[in-house]
Amino acid sequence: MRRTRVSSRARQSVDAQTLVKLARRLSESGSRLEEQLWQRRLIELINDRLGRRNDDAVEASLDELARSSQPAYDDLADLAESCAESTIVEIEGKPHDTLLLALPLLAWSRYRLPTTTLAPAMCQTIGAHLSGHLLARDARTALADYLFSIDQLPEAFGDVRRQIEQLGDAVVEGITLHIDAKKLREPVAMLADTRYVLIAIAAPQGTPLFHWQESGVDPDSKNDALNAFREQVTAVLQPVMTGCRFRVLAPNAFHSALRFADRELREFSLEAAVSYLKLSYDFAPSALTAAYGVFEDPSGNSGGEVRIGLAKSASDDDVIEGVVWPLLGDDDEQTIDDVDKALKTLSLNRAVAHAHRFPLEFCDDCGAPMFPNAAGHVVHAEPPEEAEDRPAAPLH
Ligand SMILES: [Zn+2]
Repeated sequence: MRRTRVSSRARQSVDAQTLVKLARRLSESGSRLEEQLWQRRLIELINDRLGRRNDDAVEASLDELARSSQPAYDDLADLAESCAESTIVEIEGKPHDTLLLALPLLAWSRYRLPTTTLAPAMCQTIGAHLSGHLLARDARTALADYLFSIDQLPEAFGDVRRQIEQLGDAVVEGITLHIDAKKLREPVAMLADTRYVLIAIAAPQGTPLFHWQESGVDPDSKNDALNAFREQVTAVLQPVMTGCRFRVLAPNAFHSALRFADRELREFSLEAAVSYLKLSYDFAPSALTAAYGVFEDPSGNSGGEVRIGLAKSASDDDVIEGVVWPLLGDDDEQTIDDVDKALKTLSLNRAVAHAHRFPLEFCDDCGAPMFPNAAGHVVHAEPPEEAEDRPAAPLH
């Protein structure tokens, strides 16, 4: 029979409907036994689609559940993420569970933050610290030789799966995966941002991935192991982070690590902006005012955020530097509390919270977000006039 685009689209919507039904039943399960059965069927379906590089049905079913059932959406998203970031490879005839990890860094600089190829010796040293501090006895690892920005990481479930399959092959061959930098997107320049190293770990099926999961090992040894690893990796990465202040976070499964780094980046960005004003213009925190409020998209199409405008306390009309603090699923009240706490630890002269909601506005010319000033208006952040050593001001 002749295959047409229409029939393949129809087939996909049947697929998506099956996923929606199974996810709804999973979210209603009253027992672990029932849950496990639905999970097995879902995992089988999702893995089959991801293996064929077809994640449209998974995305379509998530879209539908996002509108109709939050618990079922969460269950399906959870399974889709864990299916995408794991695979099975064969080493010496034995199947090995293989997981994609991301090692996040928070960094800020007055100059451009790096995205760069990591030297073979650097990858080997990081691999040795992974084995030495984190991995279970029988687990193996491989790295991708690149320091990625968030916009360069795989996004679709199918692309995440392709990444772990490539890294899984590198584990089998005992090599470092080479990343062709020419194929990567140019990152958006930010004062403070995240960077990532991608890692695969593989362990014989059913055995521990991490050292602290092995029998006879204190599970709490995880904390010391991660701290030691982060300290070592900070020293190893120093040469590629010249001119940056950076903090290495704990590596974790890909999606979880990205979510955690996004959250940690919020307070880090605020600290970075305040340090930047001190370093570039010699404005002490005690001479600064922060004005902030919730910005929301009136059409509700994108998530809200808190925007924080920083200015010299003498001028209520200006904003010299702005920071975006995305809500990331938190409610407004919680987020405002968090921002308030973060501002207090920075010992600024004054913090002005605006109770009314601002529309999510951007500059028509350069696309930069607009920030609230202390007077309660939304303005463009402009570098201070009195500063000698200042970056180029916007031309509009
Ligand atoms: Zn502009």
